[in-house]
Amino acid sequence: MDDLKDIFGEVDISDLFRSFGIGGDMYGGQFGGGGGRRGGASRGSDLEFQIEISFDDAAFGAEKTITIPRYEACETCGGTGAKPGSKKERCTACGGRGQVSSSSGFFNVVRTCDRCGGEGTVIKTPCTACGGRGRVKAKRNIKVKIPAGVDTGARLRVHGEGEAGERGARRGDLYLVIHVKPHEIFERHGADIYCEVPVDFVTATLGGEVEAPTLEGKIKLKIPAGTQGGKSFRLRNKGIAHLHDYGRGDQLVKVQIDVPSNPTQDQKRLLKELAKVSERNPGPLAQTFMEKMKRLFK
Ligand SMILES: [Zn+2]
Ligand SMILES: [Zn+2]
Repeated sequence: MDDLKDIFGEVDISDLFRSFGIGGDMYGGQFGGGGGRRGGASRGSDLEFQIEISFDDAAFGAEKTITIPRYEACETCGGTGAKPGSKKERCTACGGRGQVSSSSGFFNVVRTCDRCGGEGTVIKTPCTACGGRGRVKAKRNIKVKIPAGVDTGARLRVHGEGEAGERGARRGDLYLVIHVKPHEIFERHGADIYCEVPVDFVTATLGGEVEAPTLEGKIKLKIPAGTQGGKSFRLRNKGIAHLHDYGRGDQLVKVQIDVPSNPTQDQKRLLKELAKVSERNPGPLAQTFMEKMKRLFK
């Protein structure tokens, strides 16, 4: 992984992919050997698809099977483009060299042979299944491993899983652009996740425990006495895995003070009692605020 790829959030998952045994070397062995001139048959194009994954899959990684339309090597001719039983013949225009030279004044100009496209051979009888191109459109299921820690916009490169090349030329690459679905509770910033938890004002005043969500389930969160609204608690290593590093980010839980919007008669009666005894003991925010007001309007 070089630095540039890091900056652009690109991840090469070819190595992970090979473990599934459908890597890009399927056709390479068949045609690639011998070091012959292969300039004509062009490498398959790269493919790019957008895939949407869940928040949890992005956090922990996942294996996904995706179906993509792409060119596959023609099974009838084995990707050669020649009708089965017929043979490729040596190109007469270049004598099988794939290049032709012509003299232009003092110079000898060498260029790729037009007739065979540089391959040195021509197909005498084209395969009828693929029209001599050696590949056909098909739908293909591909297993990909989504690495833990990917985020929206990350581009996963799967080496050799793009379009099949013409007449057995090597495949292009497959790029998957990740979209992570939003979570109902969590918001993500890099490897850290954020959530808000309502705390009733009695618990916030006296201290206690509330239930808080994490990516792995519910936990009990201790609320110290005198906790103000907006206070955040940090849960270390409860965030998302770092994509290019060990460990995980943190989770931040922000306290929302929750007041009864429709208090019962009993609550009203007790709160009025509370108000009477609270007059001479305001909270710290009210104290600093009143001091500022005094200075402003003295
Ligand atoms: Zn064919
Ligand atoms: Zn030729």
